[in-house]
Amino acid sequence: MNELQDWFAYSSYRPGQEEMLRKAVETAKSGGVLLIDAPTGSGKSSVISSLLSVRKGRQIIVAVRTISQLATYIRELELIRKKQSDLKFSYLVGKNTMCPLGGTGDTYRKCEAVKAFSTALIRERADRGSLDPTRDKIILDQIRKNDPDHPLICPYFIRSKIAVQNEKGGGLRLVPSEGCKKISGRVIERSILPDSLKEICESICPYEVMTQASLQADVIICNYYHIMDDQIREQLYLNLGREPSDVLLLIDEAHNCGDVMQDIMSVSLDHRALEQADHDITSIRKDVKDLEAIRRLIPGIKKFLDGLRRSTETEDWFDPQIFSRMILRESFYTTMEEVVDDFMDLAENIKEANNKRGDYRTSGIERLSSFLYRLHNSGTNPAYLTLFRKDNDNIYLEVRNIDPSPALSTLAREHFCSIYISGTLTPLLSYQQLYFRVLPSDYPIHTFSLPNHFPKKNRALLATSDITSAFSQRQSEENTKRMVTYIRAFCNLPGNLGVWFPSYQMLESVTREVEMHLHDREVFIEPRESSEAGALLSRFINLPAMRKKGILFAVCGGKFSEGLDYRGEMLTGAMVIGLPLAPWNQVRQMIMQYYTRQYGEEGKFIAYTLPALNKVLQALGRVLRTPEDRGVLIMGDNRFLDPTIKERLPGWMQQEIQETTIQSFPTLLKEWK
Ligand code: SF4
Repeated sequence: MNELQDWFAYSSYRPGQEEMLRKAVETAKSGGVLLIDAPTGSGKSSVISSLLSVRKGRQIIVAVRTISQLATYIRELELIRKKQSDLKFSYLVGKNTMCPLGGTGDTYRKCEAVKAFSTALIRERADRGSLDPTRDKIILDQIRKNDPDHPLICPYFIRSKIAVQNEKGGGLRLVPSEGCKKISGRVIERSILPDSLKEICESICPYEVMTQASLQADVIICNYYHIMDDQIREQLYLNLGREPSDVLLLIDEAHNCGDVMQDIMSVSLDHRALEQADHDITSIRKDVKDLEAIRRLIPGIKKFLDGLRRSTETEDWFDPQIFSRMILRESFYTTMEEVVDDFMDLAENIKEANNKRGDYRTSGIERLSSFLYRLHNSGTNPAYLTLFRKDNDNIYLEVRNIDPSPALSTLAREHFCSIYISGTLTPLLSYQQLYFRVLPSDYPIHTFSLPNHFPKKNRALLATSDITSAFSQRQSEENTKRMVTYIRAFCNLPGNLGVWFPSYQMLESVTREVEMHLHDREVFIEPRESSEAGALLSRFINLPAMRKKGILFAVCGGKFSEGLDYRGEMLTGAMVIGLPLAPWNQVRQMIMQYYTRQYGEEGKFIAYTLPALNKVLQALGRVLRTPEDRGVLIMGDNRFLDPTIKERLPGWMQQEIQETTIQSFPTLLKEWK
């Protein structure tokens, strides 16, 4: 039973699906990287069947971004289990979501500290013959005394463990308690979603349960951070007792990998962290070595930040040499190396002292020391940029990674195979270059692109030739008027509609002009605050059920443009106004120069246009979610008709795109209706 068919959950393949799954089988057999670009509805999650059919005792790890993607894979694996009853799968959801232990601060740090204390306590008592910590009076007493706001031990962890004598060589080891084993067995046998798991675990640590279940699982679903963050990945493989070279990796929604990797490798600092660092120093014992020398550095950094307030730019590069000179000038130090060393030592001391008090917050000194460390170490690495960013009244200094390729290439080399799938990985070659440039030329990388098999008659794709969000036309009244006219005509379509803009600023200015003309549909505007987004979206998508219609004005790449399924009448048309390029400034210019050095002329597209194009494809992709959905897609910028962009759109779009002007637009829409 090792054929793909034996692991495929459905009675028939969707168009092109079998070819895609067979391609994945080849990579899972021989190793290497496979990038798959397959539109919505092509059955991408069944790629898991390909991996299962040839795994040969290797473990499969699926990395997802959201809980809803996790649920999709759980559903898929449940269906496969109907054919393959021995299939075992589990998941790992981050401790931030799952940890039931109270207290403040960083959950991972808290967990590391309380586990260390708890392990030491269990071992100490076990050495005295008390192997079951849940029956040990001293431990129970310690649990009673544990301050819930500043915990030093973890009762949930303690109940997850029991000590046993080693058979050979004597000594003790900690193994999962009966309770932990029982629940992890249930997780493996039945598909329990994270929310229910928390309840079922009651007094046992859900993370320990998930880890225990993962040890026995053929497939583990986890979030990106488990795989992309070096430290978390190392810990994961340590817990699993596996080498990554023994793992088949599947990464879902892979168009996000670059951004996530860059975020993980970047670090920032702001005034609040500096003030906190100042406060940390004043509360430290005066006899700590070099304290006065460190204290004298902080005003220099503050002065540097204050100096940036005068800049008219909202984002710009800063010179790390000037930064270093400025803070060294009034200090006792002569080199940044000494500064970084002393900060790191002090940060470690503070962390230790805070942990002992059950305080797991990241101190200002730690923030500052990791910023200085990264700043110092990335000084000669052109893949890092030093920049500042203004956000309302706050100013952030950042050491930002601008090239995910080295880290993603390492990830690929470590694992037996890695398969990256997404509905918007076009053009595939650009993503291959962006992610894996530094892999050796003989490393096996394959790509696969699936055409759009949804019925052509159910969609119309139009591109406007007379509006643009290009900088040169931003102030043009004519251009704005035409945008408003397009949106008004668009509103003649039935059902719920969505319009996406390149920025909040443009959203607000165009919406102001158009709103007064929209009398027969409810208007929804994407809020800046995430907390308000859920309720607004749910009102919008429920309108068709009440025989009403609305229009959603949102930002490309914002809260409503990715990962949402607007099925059927929930959204019958999407219009993207403009090309959502990042604001052009010196930072963008430096990124562009870096990419041109790495990739030649193509680097300009990869660095600047590719992320914008992806946001557009994501927004337009909200409309047609099933083969039965009907909808109109409008690309509202003349640059989409330019061959340099048009030829990089998915094949079906290149073939079907129809040019329109403000004059022909109403007629084309009428014909569509
Ligand atoms: S062991 Fe579990 S319950 Fe305890 S702190 Fe860690 S994640 Fe939380």
